[in-house]
Amino acid sequence: KKLTSSQVRQMFLDFFKEHGHMVLKSASLIPQDDPTLLWINSGVATMKKYFDGSVVPKNHRITSSQKSIRTNDIENVGKTARHQTFFEMLGNFSVGDYFKEEVIPWAWEFLTSDKWLGLDPDKLYVTVYPKDTDAYRLWHEVVGLPESHIVQLEDNFWDIGEGPCGPDSEIFYDRGQENNDVAEDDPENFPGGENARYLEIWNIVFSQYNHLANGKYVDQPHKNIDTGMGLERVVSVIQDAPTNFETDLFMPIIKQTEKLSDGKQYNKVAEDDVAFKIIADHVRAVSFAIADGALPSNSGRGYVLRRLIRRADLNGKRLGIKGAFLYKLVGVVGEIMKSHYPEVVDQQAFVEKVIKNEEDRFQETLSSGLNLLDSLISDAKSAKATKLSGKDAFKLFDTYGFPYELTFEAAQDAGLAVDKEEFDAEMRAQKERARKARGNLQSMGSQDITLMNIKDESVFEYHQLQEDHAKLLD
Ligand code: ATP
Ligand code: MG
Ligand code: MG
Ligand code: MG
Repeated sequence: KKLTSSQVRQMFLDFFKEHGHMVLKSASLIPQDDPTLLWINSGVATMKKYFDGSVVPKNHRITSSQKSIRTNDIENVGKTARHQTFFEMLGNFSVGDYFKEEVIPWAWEFLTSDKWLGLDPDKLYVTVYPKDTDAYRLWHEVVGLPESHIVQLEDNFWDIGEGPCGPDSEIFYDRGQENNDVAEDDPENFPGGENARYLEIWNIVFSQYNHLANGKYVDQPHKNIDTGMGLERVVSVIQDAPTNFETDLFMPIIKQTEKLSDGKQYNKVAEDDVAFKIIADHVRAVSFAIADGALPSNSGRGYVLRRLIRRADLNGKRLGIKGAFLYKLVGVVGEIMKSHYPEVVDQQAFVEKVIKNEEDRFQETLSSGLNLLDSLISDAKSAKATKLSGKDAFKLFDTYGFPYELTFEAAQDAGLAVDKEEFDAEMRAQKERARKARGNLQSMGSQDITLMNIKDESVFEYHQLQEDHAKLLD
């Protein structure tokens, strides 16, 4: 089935509307009344007020397509097939209404029925929490999924510390061994493993416990459902695209970038493709963030915007684009998205102006950085040194936004090395300072999926959690 991204988004909302859900507009990317979150990073992040009972929704069944930003995925952009910093999360939510019995067959119907997406059932796999025998039974006996397509995983327990939590079930699409980045017999080659073959498209959380501040788990007074499906991922499957980027959501941006570049073409050189993808992702993120009221600055959200714009510009440079250019892509972003999100077209001139201003400032920083780099190189040469110090490379990074590679390549051209160990040490020291400064800002009480992704950065003891979870669901 060939569908446009707009059709897929609309079908999702229509499907759940037919099942009694009220359709909510996407909330702003900027969290309202929630100091624990920098950006809205999922559909459920906007539904907290319903799940914690502080607001009673008109309808206990809700569906939406939510604009989301995840900065923790920034390094993945352009490298994996499936990550952006900005994406849309299709979601359906039950606030104490339906539970597993309804949501599992619905998800299956939406994905596989000819009336809806019509995906090939043989390509679909699910993961479940090992003790969640209900979910297993529903997938196997009610939906009819063979046992070989159901993987039991200890990790399938959604818990971000204090707050609602429960087992979850994720749905994967098999993109075939030809799209894999690990060998067929690699231990990670299974749905839920670290591989590019089994693409996670949908996460369904069965929120039935409350994780208390004292570490105990109690049953929630009513059970909730929250789900999240990445629009770009499911569209990549529908449009038979190798990555999220070769879809109608990104290709017009990439085509326009080709025109602005120095004769570069997409899908010719792997490193260039990474640059094209980063630019396409970042311009969407900054366009929507600015349309929602964020502005570049030196801290918090503003700093994220600044970093995204600078990264995009550096990648533009890699494609031979001189000077400010990112703002010239805003119109394309607005056109692609306007059927569901008119905000970028509506504020196009303003968004362009903010981005261009920031780019112009960065171009100045960049040229002073290049001057500094030149003088560091000539000093090193006249001192007969063989390398630039890591401290200098770090200064270029920290003050002028030069990624290590840029300094390294310039040094290399001049026959010099760079002290990478010292650079890394400076980097670690800075991260440590930032970590200390962040402190307790990110309260664990929030349903912040980003926290899930940084759990191994010692936010809390994951193994302890696994032991706690094992005592549940008996
Ligand atoms: P992954 O393991 O691939 O990083 P995730 O488990 O972190 O994904 P969830 O937190 O479960 O993702 O979010 C729900 C859905 O949102 C995912 O199943 C996926 O379809 C989509 N999604 C998550 N992160 C991204 C991203 N950075 N870019 C695009 N889509 C995303
Ligand atoms: Mg995942
Ligand atoms: Mg997931
Ligand atoms: Mg993730």
